[in-house]
Amino acid sequence: MKRALITLIMCSIMLNTSSCQGDRSTEENDFQWIVDRFDDIRVMRYRVPGFERLSLRQKELLYYLGEAALAGRDILYDQNFKYNLPVRRTLEAIYITHNGQESGPEWDALVTYLKKVWFANGVHHHYSNDKFTPLFEEAYFDRLLSSTPDSLLPLDFGPRDTLISVVKQVIFDPTFYPTRVNQTAGADLVATSAVNFYEGVTQSEAEAFYANMADPNDATPISYGLNSRLVKQNGKIQEQVWKEDGMYGPAIQRITHWLGKALEVAEVPLAETPQKEIIEALITYYKSGNLRDFDRYNVLWVKDTLSTVDFVNGFIETYNDPLGYKASWEAITNYKDEEATRRTEIISNEAQWFEDHSPVDPRYKKAQVKGVSAKVINVAMLGGDCYPATPIGINLPNADWIRRDYGSKSVTIQNITDAYDKASEGNGFKEEFVLREEDRERMKTYGSLADNLHTDLHECLGHGSGQLAPGVKGDELKQYGSTLEETRADLFGLYYLGDEKLVELGLVPSFDVAKAEYASYMMNGLMTQLARIRPGKNVEEAHMRNRKLIATWCYEKGLPENVVEMVQEEGKTYVVVNDFQRLRELFGELLREVQRIKSEGDFEAGRELVERYGVQVDPKLHQEVLERYEKLNIAPYGGFVNPQYRLVEENGKIVDVEVSYTEDYTDQMLRYSREYSLLPSRN
Ligand code: ZN
Repeated sequence: MKRALITLIMCSIMLNTSSCQGDRSTEENDFQWIVDRFDDIRVMRYRVPGFERLSLRQKELLYYLGEAALAGRDILYDQNFKYNLPVRRTLEAIYITHNGQESGPEWDALVTYLKKVWFANGVHHHYSNDKFTPLFEEAYFDRLLSSTPDSLLPLDFGPRDTLISVVKQVIFDPTFYPTRVNQTAGADLVATSAVNFYEGVTQSEAEAFYANMADPNDATPISYGLNSRLVKQNGKIQEQVWKEDGMYGPAIQRITHWLGKALEVAEVPLAETPQKEIIEALITYYKSGNLRDFDRYNVLWVKDTLSTVDFVNGFIETYNDPLGYKASWEAITNYKDEEATRRTEIISNEAQWFEDHSPVDPRYKKAQVKGVSAKVINVAMLGGDCYPATPIGINLPNADWIRRDYGSKSVTIQNITDAYDKASEGNGFKEEFVLREEDRERMKTYGSLADNLHTDLHECLGHGSGQLAPGVKGDELKQYGSTLEETRADLFGLYYLGDEKLVELGLVPSFDVAKAEYASYMMNGLMTQLARIRPGKNVEEAHMRNRKLIATWCYEKGLPENVVEMVQEEGKTYVVVNDFQRLRELFGELLREVQRIKSEGDFEAGRELVERYGVQVDPKLHQEVLERYEKLNIAPYGGFVNPQYRLVEENGKIVDVEVSYTEDYTDQMLRYSREYSLLPSRN
């Protein structure tokens, strides 16, 4: 829990696309989940379930916060690289001029290049940080540009010739700022990174500047350098602060304008901190640029756990600064998913029952157990560094002392996970890897519910269950500790997913939900998760080891009764569960043993379990999985377009906020570039 941020929780659903969805109405069947596909990217759509049932005030609040989330778009482009805005605007001018007239492979390559720039908020890949390689000729680019009118070009950057020579150098010279964020030890990380956080200063000058600023006796230090660019002018090093009357001022003024509107409809005070005060504190910070004001805002924000509508808007994460001081601008608006949150509450309220009835040794059960009820949210708007590529969980604020003294807010984002899930439907994965039709059907009907419930049981109960034997400290399992801890929580979830109690609580209709999860869990653990491992490597990551451990152990123990079978058909391997009830008993037996290992701190037994069942990869099966996966051509990176919101007015009064899901990727990007181009091309 040290560093804490908007984390990308790589859930198994996203990566393996092995799971599916709950009951779907006809309307949902018609919903277009995937809106675009290019290079290594797929762009999807997410829905905002339950938005219509929010109060008018809450909808309006989301609308204004949503506008504030879009207003900072240009900030991120400029932060990522000082030439991103002129490049994006030049490409858009070419696109607008020639779309509908040009065609052929070179045009397609240019359009793909532009789509990639939009996706990465710049010319460097959002994940690998490498600059894109254009797959069209410079001569072709010149020809299109020659008939692109001045009126569409970003000539605020400089005269046409100046603009074009810079843009062409960025696009066509591979040695010109090849990397966005360089982390290679030994190099001057500031000089060799394209990010626009430093100008004219060396790495050592920047480090010395902030080392001098820090006060080692300050128990509540500000996040030094978080909201500024560091520049050397006339031999003097100083910060250009990002604030209303400072750098990025025009975009920040628009953000505070919308935050001001949001203030008027902020949620009625329920908690010790009225939401109005939180928004006011954020506006104060955007005006002053003072990082003490930012901390004050964060302390207020973290205390508000009761409001239905919530948001993040600001300079938050420092991943993109190779030195770790400067934060990229990002924004998210969201509202509580009442239904999903109710699900976690039901489970938490029954925590003692689950503990009492678990198959573990009574000596290692907790007499008094408390469930954790996690908040589940849906996002309503993504902006800045959360768009189009987005996190699926949030854990903020980042300042260590605020986390220490006030805690943090941790949420899971339900509608984004659901969209990943739905969009994976029809990508051929199930048809390729699931042998039996009945399993595919169950996964289709219950996969999403089963996954969510398994996660809830794992998070709300699994980790918190059990107790140590007297004298055991808890760190005895050393490097195997985290794998075994995940194994324990997963087994707790798997075991109870098949319990009658869940039917009784109204959480599932029948044992079929467990069957769906068991089939996909075993297939993933024994086989399909190998798709994420490079040839010749073993399983390293703790969650992957835990899944392999559980699946392989149960497979081996069940061999005499043929509980789980590896079926060979036409040269392909399939995992088939023959006896679901017996498999559940095996989950229970392993849970009992893993709890014993933890409770007694039995390092040797823990090591043996992990090394024997969780690590070694069968190279032949691995090769087969990689080949079958490759043929499916599933894009490794995903992102989202936002819904559109419209204020509905009657006689000059706002009466509703309407949502629509019709905009495609290119239309949305071009519209955002028209409506939210708030910064000059040279900042
Ligand atoms: Zn866990």
